[in-house]
Amino acid sequence: MEHVAVNPWASLAYLIAGVCFILALRGLSSPATSQRGNRYGMIGMTIAVVTTLLTHIPMIDLLVVGSTPAFDYSAIIARVDYVTMLEILAAIALGGVIGLLTAKRIAMTDMPQLVAAFHSLVGLAAVLVAAAAFLNPQAFGIVDEFGQILTVSRIEMGLGIAIGAITFSGSVIAFLKLNGNMGGKPIMLPGRHVLNLAVLAGIIGLVGYFTQDQSPWVFWTITALSFAIGFLLIIPIGGADMPVVVSMLNSYSGWAAAAMGFTLHNSAMIITGALVGSSGAILSYIMCKAMNRSFISVIAGGFGAEAAVSGGDAKEQRPWKRGSAEDAAFLMQQAEQIIIVPGYGMAVAQAQHALREMGDKLKAHGVRVKYAIHPVAGRMPGHMNVLLAEANVPYDDVFELEDINGEFAQTDVAFVIGANDVTNPAAKTDKTSPIYGMPVLDVEKAKTVLFIKRSMGGVGYAGVDNDVFYMDNTMMLLADAKKMVEEIVKNLE
Ligand code: NDP
Repeated sequence: MEHVAVNPWASLAYLIAGVCFILALRGLSSPATSQRGNRYGMIGMTIAVVTTLLTHIPMIDLLVVGSTPAFDYSAIIARVDYVTMLEILAAIALGGVIGLLTAKRIAMTDMPQLVAAFHSLVGLAAVLVAAAAFLNPQAFGIVDEFGQILTVSRIEMGLGIAIGAITFSGSVIAFLKLNGNMGGKPIMLPGRHVLNLAVLAGIIGLVGYFTQDQSPWVFWTITALSFAIGFLLIIPIGGADMPVVVSMLNSYSGWAAAAMGFTLHNSAMIITGALVGSSGAILSYIMCKAMNRSFISVIAGGFGAEAAVSGGDAKEQRPWKRGSAEDAAFLMQQAEQIIIVPGYGMAVAQAQHALREMGDKLKAHGVRVKYAIHPVAGRMPGHMNVLLAEANVPYDDVFELEDINGEFAQTDVAFVIGANDVTNPAAKTDKTSPIYGMPVLDVEKAKTVLFIKRSMGGVGYAGVDNDVFYMDNTMMLLADAKKMVEEIVKNLE
């Protein structure tokens, strides 16, 4: 077996990168420190990438030449295979430019599908690394004296390919759903639980069998079954469970990266993968609790979502009241307390700055203004917090669902701006609704509800009608959120 030398300086550098990643996660836990967190993440990633590149120059050389002293860089660099290095740098440059252009162009509202697309790439990378290691195990230093792949490496490879393939196909489906290419509603295959269990059992059994038999058919069957199960697990997931799935796929992508780290003998990748995997799992758990969903149900692929298929999106012809910006401004000036409920539509309209201005004006009139954030408002975890922070809304005015829900009953105006599902009382009462069981903001309890959306026909992500539109105390403000808020601000002068 080839011996892969571990450079002690590389280990130290990877350790520092690992500490940076932990500090990054710490920073990302609050909007106030998130920029600092991102910076730590960038520093950590730069250290990790540069270290990997530098230490791989002698490693490539060692594997080829076999006799070069391990860390005599001057001797090694003189004989570096520059073509390989150039290829690596060209790939980094190409990927970097694509990433930069995508990041610059992407609208904030398309972030969730971008994240899903990136997760799919991590999954695909894990599959490709495992496949490369399987096809050329000598190059990875994972063969024994008989030329067989080491048992431990077969387990790592089997797990890596399974997690990677599930992450890839699951993320592709999540991307299609979030991007609107596939409907947000669950697609229920008959007998899917039995099918899913059979496929999962097949994958686990084959990973076990792979330790005894390294025939290509075993490896490629694990790959094919894993691609299939990723697809099968995500297509039945509908409306309210999608946020959990996005964070779950985030977690899977981390474990896929950690598995690659084992195959590539790269401790930085193992550390980073484990950090992403475990923080994603914690986030999924938090989201499940916030959504009142069982974690197992969601990862098992739409258990408990049966009711969703019958969840009606039939629009009823019921009377409703329309108001103007002038009416809204008048009502709000009279109020003692207003709770603003932002949702996906605020992100679409980019109305956060106008909203902050409206809040400031109202405060100047002596009105108490608070913001209520539902854990899945928008299209990604923390979406609303990010937008409000961008508009410099004071953190002290922003409240989580459980901290503010009791206050709607004593509030004069609930100002719903581009939110829909997160205010839908059907989640509390209608067992056939796809969002049944999800905690919602009790906006209907406020004295008056001002509800901004563009048309009565538009629905939210879950595709269901909302009783709040038709209540006596609701006034619909039908317009683009930014334009409506700007009009209201003018009327507050
Ligand atoms: P919804 O998707 O339920 O509703 C958005 C509302 O905004 C609609 O009523 C729409 O009506 C309105 N709207 C859209 N554009 C504009 C605009 N320019 N101006 C004014 N109004 C606009 O959003 P919520 O935030 O209430 O709920 C989030 C939903 O997304 C939940 O179902 C959640 O499960 C799901 N989800 C959340 C994720 C997360 O991580 N947060 C990830 C994936 C899904 P109209 O078209 O008539 O204007």
